Amino acid sequence: MAKEFVKDVTAMDEDFAKWYTDVVTKADLIDYSSVRGSMIIRPYGYALWENIKQELDTRFKETGHENVYMPLFIPESLLQKEKDHIEGFAPEVAWVTHGGEEKLAERLCVRPTSEVLFAEHYRNIIHSYRDLPKLYNQWSNVVRWEKTTRPFLRTLEFLWQEGHTCHATDEEALEETVRMLNVYEEVCEKVLAIPVVKGQKTEKEKFAGAKLTYTIESLMHDGKALQSGTSHHLGQGFAEAFGIQFTDKEGKLQHVHQTSWGFTTRIIGAMIMVHGDDRGLVIPPNAAPTQLMIVPIAQHKEGVLDYAYELKNTLSKLVRADIDASDKKPGWKFNEYEMKGIPLRLEVGPKDIEKNQVVLVRRDTGEKLIVAADALESTVQDLLRDIQQNLYQKAIDHREQKTTPAVTLEELKEIVETKAGFIKAMWCGDRACEDLIKEETGATSRCIPFEQEEVSEQCVCCGKKAEQMVYWAKAY
Ligand code: AMP
Ligand code: ZN
Repeated sequence: MAKEFVKDVTAMDEDFAKWYTDVVTKADLIDYSSVRGSMIIRPYGYALWENIKQELDTRFKETGHENVYMPLFIPESLLQKEKDHIEGFAPEVAWVTHGGEEKLAERLCVRPTSEVLFAEHYRNIIHSYRDLPKLYNQWSNVVRWEKTTRPFLRTLEFLWQEGHTCHATDEEALEETVRMLNVYEEVCEKVLAIPVVKGQKTEKEKFAGAKLTYTIESLMHDGKALQSGTSHHLGQGFAEAFGIQFTDKEGKLQHVHQTSWGFTTRIIGAMIMVHGDDRGLVIPPNAAPTQLMIVPIAQHKEGVLDYAYELKNTLSKLVRADIDASDKKPGWKFNEYEMKGIPLRLEVGPKDIEKNQVVLVRRDTGEKLIVAADALESTVQDLLRDIQQNLYQKAIDHREQKTTPAVTLEELKEIVETKAGFIKAMWCGDRACEDLIKEETGATSRCIPFEQEEVSEQCVCCGKKAEQMVYWAKAY
């Protein structure tokens, strides 16, 4: 029999960071590579990404987008064309200086994002209002030379999609920016069971080169926030820098209005940190590569394996079901699939077969249910729906419990230090106050939420009249 050892993880409340790295490695999501901050995404981690990708891609196509592929390298001169953009990205760009032994005449940057590549291409293919809108998306990797890194959440190289669109009017571009933010929200909430706050980034936090940035922000189990996806209204900045023009219906030459939006492998980190527990990963059914794992009990006994495979075939027509018929002990298998966060486990042994029943165990609650064989199909489907809903509700409750209003800077600071979470506080709009809040408390502005409330009348920092409520938090 194979050597079996039971894996376990550090308790969350003991050391959350350690818990996280334990989970990503012991659930077989990643392995570290020899380059700092880069990770190997293992089959189970990649299967998760493929599901998320599929959910997004379907929605992109439904909203009229086409997939394209741009080159990996950007000539330095091209990156220099939009000043705010290069200024923002310069500190985290990786450069290629040599081809073989030969020094290149011009350095090539490894794309950190592809606005300039799309801009150059759009200048060549857009001429008339008839060419608009252009709704392109790319699935690719990008590289950002991050100082501190953590698997999924912040890596040097990550996988993502980047949407890049061109429109005839400012209103159309703004509509697109909101539409794609809503797609991100839907995938987070419906597929990953992660509730998000939608809002606008402050000037300080917006994307380099954008007119405005919309964001979805989520809250992790430890009370830290995570920017989970961003959608930018680029305005005409890139169009002017690159000369992307079209002739409108009146025959006048105009610059296009653009958007860009991105969603990355970071979201897998969010899913882990929102739903995971001391037994490991917990994957919401809609995102799970395997939704139900069958573990045969006393499988050497006659008829058990045949019956278990029969169940697998029947259930596979309805859900993503799998079976572990290896010769490892059932106890090892229970532990392994709990670690991997598989939503439902089905146990079936000789006694169950005799009684015409099976045992189902929920990953989210640990609850054990004895189910009659003829009710199995509908019960499995109901349970998966229920687990999805339960995880979402738990995440909402956690976020509500960890969202606190603050009226003074002292209050804000105290909440950051004790309870953490989202802090709702009024802001006057001055960069100086935003900087001071960060300096004093470590919390950054997460967003100016679309759903506004009046927590008080004055800025939490300077006491001047304030019109905007901002979500503040320490963030990953
Ligand atoms: P941006 O193009 O800067 O708006 O980034 C798009 C999204 O990528 C952000 O909203 C983050 O969620 C995510 N992101 C940014 N940096 C990283 C990174 N180093 N690793 C993984 N995801 C990232
Ligand atoms: Zn102020």
